[in-house]
Amino acid sequence: MKILKLILLSLLILVFLVFTLQNSGFVEISFWGTKGYVPLFLLVLSSVALGVLLPALYFVPKEFFLRRKLSSLEDVATAMKTGFYQRVRKMSEGKGGAAYTFFKAEASYRMEDLDDLVTTEDPYALALAVRLGYPDRAIDKLSAFLEGETKDLNLLKACRDAFFSLGDIEKAVEAQKRVVGLCERWEKDRQRAILAELMALQALNTNSLSLAEKAVDTYRTPYSMAVLLRLLSQSERTKDLRKTFDKVLELGFQNDVLFMVMEDEKTLIKLMDVLREELEALDPNVAALLFLKLNMPSHVEKVKDKLNPTVSLLADTYFSHREQERKCATILQELYTPWVCVCGRAYRRYSLMCSSCGRWLKIRYVGGYNR
Ligand SMILES: [Zn+2]
Repeated sequence: MKILKLILLSLLILVFLVFTLQNSGFVEISFWGTKGYVPLFLLVLSSVALGVLLPALYFVPKEFFLRRKLSSLEDVATAMKTGFYQRVRKMSEGKGGAAYTFFKAEASYRMEDLDDLVTTEDPYALALAVRLGYPDRAIDKLSAFLEGETKDLNLLKACRDAFFSLGDIEKAVEAQKRVVGLCERWEKDRQRAILAELMALQALNTNSLSLAEKAVDTYRTPYSMAVLLRLLSQSERTKDLRKTFDKVLELGFQNDVLFMVMEDEKTLIKLMDVLREELEALDPNVAALLFLKLNMPSHVEKVKDKLNPTVSLLADTYFSHREQERKCATILQELYTPWVCVCGRAYRRYSLMCSSCGRWLKIRYVGGYNR
């Protein structure tokens, strides 16, 4: 590299010398009535030098300030990366711009400084307060941002999470509709699935069959299908109920869906014929729990040898003649937590959002006792 630079420099000097020697003749120049003579090569070279110097006067200070800003941002990012959050906040204090406010909010979040997050007017900091588990402290300020035509996905998702946690499903649906409209293609399907489940929950709360159908049209998830089954059963649409359950089997959702509708005995009774026919397609543990619920001990016997030890024990105690054992069965049922989130938190019933880690649609039916 050094040799290349040396060759280039030598070539440049050579060109310069040749140019000087061949253009050393004097030319006449005049400026405001004053005349003079200068060598031609000097005139050309000074024009070139002036052409470089004048823009440099403008660009050099600008570059100096840009470099200083970049180096300061690099320092903040390094402090953030290495875990010096107090330093990040000090360095970002009083500075505007998306980068500094982002780092400052992230630092407060990592320090779990809720007061700092909720006293700002920064939507990102408020979204982090929700993620920290305090939707009630951020919701008023967050809602104010919703009134405008915001295109901030983090803000919209935080509003959805906060409204859901506080039980306002209608507003959570509204926020999620805007998320679906705005989000990038890579997460479109996932966000539509979340919208479908939120709409299904709203349908269940308001007993609205049409909304449950819209939810399934938006996206087919075990939960949206389970809600549709429950509402079809309530409105006595037996044919559609069977058709929907066939779709559930086709999608392989049967175990999750049946566990979700288990509390609703009416739906289970209406599905009884098809359940008997499709017994092979069901997880024996789910089937046994369904038959327990429907008080059908002879059906439980059919799958008895395929049960896991906990459901088997539950089956033994559930129909016992001894009161003590029946009480034991009730407690076993209470402790049965077959739904598990990817973060490890176990649930008795399905939930759309994990209250522990804040993730959506990550709670899966795995069966058994989990803690
Ligand atoms: Zn979780």
